[in-house]
Amino acid sequence: MKLEFKNGWNVIDDAEKAKVFEFGEGYKTYLDEGKTERECVKTTVAMAEAAGFKNLNDVESLKTGDKVYAINKNKCIMLAVIGEKKVSEGVNIAGAHIDAPRLDLKQNPLFEDGDMAFFKTHYYGGIKKYQWAAIPLAIHGVVVLADGTKKEISVGDYDDDFTFVITDLLPHLGRNQMSKTGDKMLEGEQLTILLGSIPYEGEDDEETGLKKGEVKSKMLSILNEKYGICEEDFLSAELEIVPAFKAKDLGFDRSMIAAYGHDDRVCSYAALKAVLDIATPEKTAVCILTDKEEVGSMGNTGAKSYFMQLVLSELMEKTGEIPSDINRLRMLDKSFCLSADVSAAFDPKFSDVYDGQNCGRMNKGIAISKYTGSGGKSGSNDASAELMGLVRKIFNDNNVLWHTAELGKVDAGGGGTIAQFVANLGVNTIDCGVPMLSMHAPYEVVGKMDLYMSYKAFAAFYKDCK
Ligand code: MN
Ligand code: MN
Repeated sequence: MKLEFKNGWNVIDDAEKAKVFEFGEGYKTYLDEGKTERECVKTTVAMAEAAGFKNLNDVESLKTGDKVYAINKNKCIMLAVIGEKKVSEGVNIAGAHIDAPRLDLKQNPLFEDGDMAFFKTHYYGGIKKYQWAAIPLAIHGVVVLADGTKKEISVGDYDDDFTFVITDLLPHLGRNQMSKTGDKMLEGEQLTILLGSIPYEGEDDEETGLKKGEVKSKMLSILNEKYGICEEDFLSAELEIVPAFKAKDLGFDRSMIAAYGHDDRVCSYAALKAVLDIATPEKTAVCILTDKEEVGSMGNTGAKSYFMQLVLSELMEKTGEIPSDINRLRMLDKSFCLSADVSAAFDPKFSDVYDGQNCGRMNKGIAISKYTGSGGKSGSNDASAELMGLVRKIFNDNNVLWHTAELGKVDAGGGGTIAQFVANLGVNTIDCGVPMLSMHAPYEVVGKMDLYMSYKAFAAFYKDCK
């Protein structure tokens, strides 16, 4: 058969085109409600409960057709629909990540200079630092107070009446800056968030440390009034600086979506919707949305943690099976995983970094990557021909538009996903996901066709991977 990856808009009928646009609407809401991994977990729980899923902790025993979710330390979530076969006969996993590149506040972040107050930050994930200057920014996260109370903060976003910014140098004085390489134009320590400029008008206070005439003290007095937090409370906080952009349709034809955090909430949403919509599957369907992918999947909320194995063991236990070591290993060995993460879509103005016949493409559906990695597939999961063949057949049988993609030309760079960590457990794993433009930028771009086809891909996988 002739190899041809088709443009979805030339292939699908009007009824399905309407579904493509409709699917994009829900996704934009998901993005706007979840700008951090914690917020994505909350939104996911609300969607799951509305679809009849129960917290696994509240369930004594499970039977075919039951729907449950489990939360890992507020930053990672797993959902499952119990299939007709035993869990020990293997499960079908769609795995994506809900963390995204951003700036985190430093432990001791607040300072004053030049009659203005700022927060110091430490960036998270692979970013082009200069892209974060001169754009509206919001602060989202949690602060744990001295008495253990947790305060949630969400401020400066598009629907608020004020925002934050990292200032940049005026071009008139930028001669030296503009001659630097991109990674030095704005350095890590210069990613400071402008907070305010009015000096504190109250009297000096020994107890709180507030000082008359200090802008920093003014900021602390506002934070104390609004959230009850003092300077020491920043030591036990996770505050993330994220772009204050709203997800929006892109283009005259509204065929694309521009937003912060597509990587990897676009695959997360597609996988989540597929598991929420599923009828009782033959094999147990699992969706895991993990944290920490952008920094190596480490820690107790990343894909390298034992969380997924723990939940799978609980599924075995609550369906009446014994999750002994050998039973768990057998179960993992018979399981399949679509490691769902974004791929780079061909961008004509940077065509020199892509291999045109082996790269992600806008509107050509979900992109399957047999391998990722860099420097000779290092850090990659290299899926087998058999697995590639199985996935190809499932997608074709279900009219899922798909193509294959490598991130870029050989040795142009590279990147990894959670695939290798899932595959290390014995799970048959393959990478696939939505191709995107401007990956890791504050405002990324995906196509609605590719988002919808990814949803169809995960639904087909849950239904037909037996
Ligand atoms: Mn990713
Ligand atoms: Mn990424």
